Amino acid sequence: MKVAAGVPCPLCEAPLAQARLPHFSGDEAPLRVTLRAMPALQCPTGHTYFVKRGFPLWLTNHLVGNDEPGLPSARSSGWLLRKYACAQCGASLGARPDHRYSFWFDLAFEGGDAFAVELSMPVFRCAACGTEQLHSIERLRALTPAALVHAFKGAGIKPPG
Ligand SMILES: [Zn+2]
Ligand SMILES: [Zn+2]
Repeated sequence: MKVAAGVPCPLCEAPLAQARLPHFSGDEAPLRVTLRAMPALQCPTGHTYFVKRGFPLWLTNHLVGNDEPGLPSARSSGWLLRKYACAQCGASLGARPDHRYSFWFDLAFEGGDAFAVELSMPVFRCAACGTEQLHSIERLRALTPAALVHAFKGAGIKPPG
């Protein structure tokens, strides 16, 4: 059965309506993903569905493939003892990321209203130029799918139909 606005909720048969979920998060340590104003379908009881079956895969691919590769990331060198240098100015950075920082993206699914995705990760801040940067974009990309799954499960969002 296809789920859409006006169609009866598969669980309780009250009609579904377009909704925006205020905010919810999922963790795959050390990453935390928070979604704000994500579009969904909801019945008056609060049963919640993705707007389309393809939504979670679209979101995962968009973040991992389009958005995250453009984030600032420290340059690393060395093999046994890795050293990190600022992506912006080349100054050397501490051995470990020293605080958390949030990167934001505004996305829209199939021409709909924009919603926000916040990725919170430990980062380096360059003492010389102040640039916030990730330790490794590959690590962030590897953690993102699981963090999204935890977020969707935590918010009780079901696949349509
Ligand atoms: Zn329902
Ligand atoms: Zn710098």
